[in-house]
Amino acid sequence: MEVTSVGLTNVGVAGARPASVGPTRRNMLGFAALLAASGASRALAQVPVPPAGPHSLPPLPYAPDANEPHVDAQTMTLHHDRHHAAYVANLNAALKDQGTLAALPVQDLLARLPETPEAIRAALRNNAGGHANHAMFWQVMGGKGGNPTGAVLAAVDRDLGGMDAMRAAFSRMGLMQFGSGWVFVTVDRGGKLALAARPNQDTPLMEGGRVLLGNDVWEHAYYLKYQNRRADYLAAWWNVVNWDVVAARYEQARAGTLGV
Ligand code: MN
Repeated sequence: MEVTSVGLTNVGVAGARPASVGPTRRNMLGFAALLAASGASRALAQVPVPPAGPHSLPPLPYAPDANEPHVDAQTMTLHHDRHHAAYVANLNAALKDQGTLAALPVQDLLARLPETPEAIRAALRNNAGGHANHAMFWQVMGGKGGNPTGAVLAAVDRDLGGMDAMRAAFSRMGLMQFGSGWVFVTVDRGGKLALAARPNQDTPLMEGGRVLLGNDVWEHAYYLKYQNRRADYLAAWWNVVNWDVVAARYEQARAGTLGV
C-alpha cells in the first residue's frame, strides 16, 4: 500500500507517534506498520514524538534568507524545518526495529531498497529519498549562480552541450515533470554528467547513481512566492546555485566519496 509523502508532509508533523500509551489499536500495530497501513492521520500529527535516530535533520548551511529574493526565507524555513524534518522523522519511524537497515547511510539504504521488507519499503522509498534529496538540495544552494569553472564547466561542455543548453534542458525537464518530483544532473565515477528527472522523492541514488546537483519541483518548494509559475522558479533557481560546492561534489564523485 503506497504511502505518499504528500499526505505525510501535508499534516505538518508527520512522524509523530501517539504519546499516550493506552492499549489502542494504533499502539499495538506499531508506528511503522501504521504508516504503511493507513497513511498519516491528522490525529498522529498532533503529538510529535518521533524516534531520535538513526537519521537526523542537517542544519541549513546558511541563513534562511540567504537565497532571497529568488527563494524566499519563509519557503526555506518551512521547507527545511517542516518538510525535510518530516521525511527524517518518518524515515526513523520506519527504521524502528530494523537494526541492520538502520545502520546504513541513507544512500546505501536507497540502493538496497529491493532487499528491504515489503511492509516498510514504500515508507523507506519516500522518506529516505526525501531525506537524501533535501540534504543534497540545501548543499547546492546558497551561492551566487553564474557559471562553474574548471572540471565542472569542462564536463558540462563535453556532456551536456554547454551551460546554456544544460540550463534549458534541465529547466524543461523540471517543467515537464508531472506533479511532484525532482530534476537532477547526475555524475558517474568517470565524471560523466547526465540529466535525469524523477517523480515524488525518487532519486538516482536508488540505482546506485550519484547526484551532482538537483532542484525540487514539488509545489512546496516554490508555491508561496511563485504560485503555479514553476517555470519562473526553475529559471530563478540558477541564481542561487553554489558552484563551489558543486565543484567539490564533482571531485568527491570521481573519488567515490560522494554520499547524498
Ligand atoms: Mn521539498
